[in-house]
Amino acid sequence: METAPNSLTGRIILVTGAGYGIGRTAALTYARAGATVLLLGRTQEALNDTYDLIEAENLPQAAVLPFDLEQHDEEPFRQLAELIEENFGHLDGVLLNAGVLGQRTTLENYDWNTWQKVMQINVNGQFALMKHLLPLLRNASNDASVIFTSSSVGREGRAYWGAYSVSKFATEGLMQVMAQELENTSNIRVNCINPGGTRTSMRAAAYPAEHPSNVPEADTIMALYLHLMSPASIGTHGQTLDAQPKK
Ligand code: NDP
Repeated sequence: METAPNSLTGRIILVTGAGYGIGRTAALTYARAGATVLLLGRTQEALNDTYDLIEAENLPQAAVLPFDLEQHDEEPFRQLAELIEENFGHLDGVLLNAGVLGQRTTLENYDWNTWQKVMQINVNGQFALMKHLLPLLRNASNDASVIFTSSSVGREGRAYWGAYSVSKFATEGLMQVMAQELENTSNIRVNCINPGGTRTSMRAAAYPAEHPSNVPEADTIMALYLHLMSPASIGTHGQTLDAQPKK
């Protein structure tokens, strides 16, 4: 999957969970392709570190947007969209990458508060964010791309993956509903990526016995992230795609 260099020149792309893991690598990848990247996440210092990596390569200046997706009110999402509109006018892309793992245990033992937290961050926060960002994507000059992040446990339920697995089914559903609603009525394409096992702190928490060197690093899965964000993928809509070949 070849994507032209500078395929994102002049584009404004929001990446959630941009301070760590796959999100940080995706933000850097988009900046290297010419985009101005808005770095959203909970931990300001981590976002600052991603910002510095982009600065160090003399890439288009990024923006740091500290924001906790675990909101129980809609208003902060509206205010965030307003802030982005005031400063940037529109968005050309959103990578919905932020997520939490929750517990690895049976449903019977699953902690109620952890369940709420996982669903709030992985599902409700994404819905609220997109509800308020869609108008900014409609303002995009040409095409715009929304990418959700799924998982193999969001396609087939797996024991002991609890709220995480259920939240990823919901993510696939959110993507499908949004894709149908936008079909033929807008310049916005909506798709889902399953990154596959990738060397991050979430993967280490999910598989504590695994040696990290046996898991691919995030920069090895970026071809699909770049392709779906760039104009090369115009016409790809409502799909759920794997960033790594199936084992
Ligand atoms: P990490 O745990 O490394 O990163 C998760 C990111 O989400 C962090 O930047 C974190 O930032 C952010 N985040 C978590 N909670 C919130 C919140 N409340 N508000 C805002 N941001 C938040 O995970 P990965 O990089 O591994 O995962 C990225 C995505 O890929 C996730 O959606 C995950 O489910 C999915 N995935 C990952 C796989 C893997 O093997 N790594 C496999 C399949 C899917 P902060 O801590 O500052 O909040």
